[in-house]
Amino acid sequence: MRPYTLLCPDCGQRMEDHYTLSCPAGCNALIRTVYLKRTLDLRKEPGIFRFADWLPVEGTIPSPAGPVTYRSEGLARDLGMKNLWIGFSGYWPERNAEIATCSFKELEALPTVVRMKETGRGTLVIASAGNTGRAFCQTAAVTGIPVVVVVPSAAAERLWTTRETEKVCLVTVDGDYSDAIAAANDLCTHAGLVPEGGAKNVARRDGMGTVMLDAAVTIGRIPDHYIQAVGSGTGGIAAWEAAMRLIGDGRFGGALPRLHLAQNAPFVPMVSAWRAGRRKILPETDMRDARSAIAAVYADVLTNRNPPYGVGGGVFDALTATGGAMYAVENRDARDAEKRFVEAEGIDLDPAAAVAVAALIQAVETGEIDPHSTVLLNITGGGYERAAEDHDQIVVRPAFQVAAGTGAGDIAADVLSWVKRHA
Ligand SMILES: *Cc1c(COP(=O)(O)O)cnc(C)c1O
Ligand SMILES: [Zn+2]
Repeated sequence: MRPYTLLCPDCGQRMEDHYTLSCPAGCNALIRTVYLKRTLDLRKEPGIFRFADWLPVEGTIPSPAGPVTYRSEGLARDLGMKNLWIGFSGYWPERNAEIATCSFKELEALPTVVRMKETGRGTLVIASAGNTGRAFCQTAAVTGIPVVVVVPSAAAERLWTTRETEKVCLVTVDGDYSDAIAAANDLCTHAGLVPEGGAKNVARRDGMGTVMLDAAVTIGRIPDHYIQAVGSGTGGIAAWEAAMRLIGDGRFGGALPRLHLAQNAPFVPMVSAWRAGRRKILPETDMRDARSAIAAVYADVLTNRNPPYGVGGGVFDALTATGGAMYAVENRDARDAEKRFVEAEGIDLDPAAAVAVAALIQAVETGEIDPHSTVLLNITGGGYERAAEDHDQIVVRPAFQVAAGTGAGDIAADVLSWVKRHA
């Protein structure tokens, strides 16, 4: 028996994991893991698998990539804060941050690959506009477990690994992120090709949740506030779920952290719906002129058109349960915040992380966050310059291409034969 079961928060059904992504009764809710171990014992592992007790895996991968938490001095002083902690998911070996692809997507990819190997059948298909795809390419390179990654052609150059690999089948799609998702869905109608699952994948959520776990064991308690830039909001959901587990453990306090989640204006669908008090995102109200709004943002990883916001156990529920807040951050504020952060802390940021820093500044200025409280700022990506000094960044060569508007039907047979050769 595996060391956890899955639970549907809607109907309460418990189930075994067969890389299950949704409730068999058809509930519109995110299924969760329930770990048999209520207390968290840290394993002797170099990276994220330190937290394997609360990851949906039995085996581990010896990867140094994992969450890192440290107490801020520079930015804390700059903002007049007394207890600012930074969760740094990127590359900064001087602080033991060893995520070579520089974003917390690697914290999702590692347990996902192990979960699939142990509970699923087939080869994972990932649609991505950048950071997620790169993280899964790297995981394939490190583990030798093949993946199919589908990206818009323009994003292909963002996909690199630190070592040469034959294990990535990169499909480029002439179109945008939505076209890549559609092509990936086409591919997954074929036996042997399996959708990774996104927010529905418990390994992704519990992988991201290790940022909260690492903070709690480092600080000694659950923080009062959690700040993150969101596109899908999966990281916010994950932080909430991890905090509930920590409360169940009993050693880290009994209160949930307030979630402070930020989007990059002008594309702010969740901010708009949340401020209107709505569980549902209305495209005509919350996502007006989506295409041009998406083109205008500084941090394009934050531009998800279908976030798990209203679904049971999703972002709306996470914000409601934690007394949370949402922030819209303008490009210029993100850039200013980035400058302040780089000067104060001495490491470069992913643009999305700059949005989170700007939201923290907003929250402190408006009094939403008391500068004396214990705050966890999730720096979801950074250290790109530092990583380029230490590692090769080998661009992944596309294997197949989908022409504009044609769908993946034409290349499915090629992808399947690639999978046969590489599995
Ligand atoms: C994907 C990503 C985010 C947004 O994460 P979600 O929780 O899935 O919305 C933020 N920052 C970086 C660097 C990312 O790659
Ligand atoms: Zn259910």
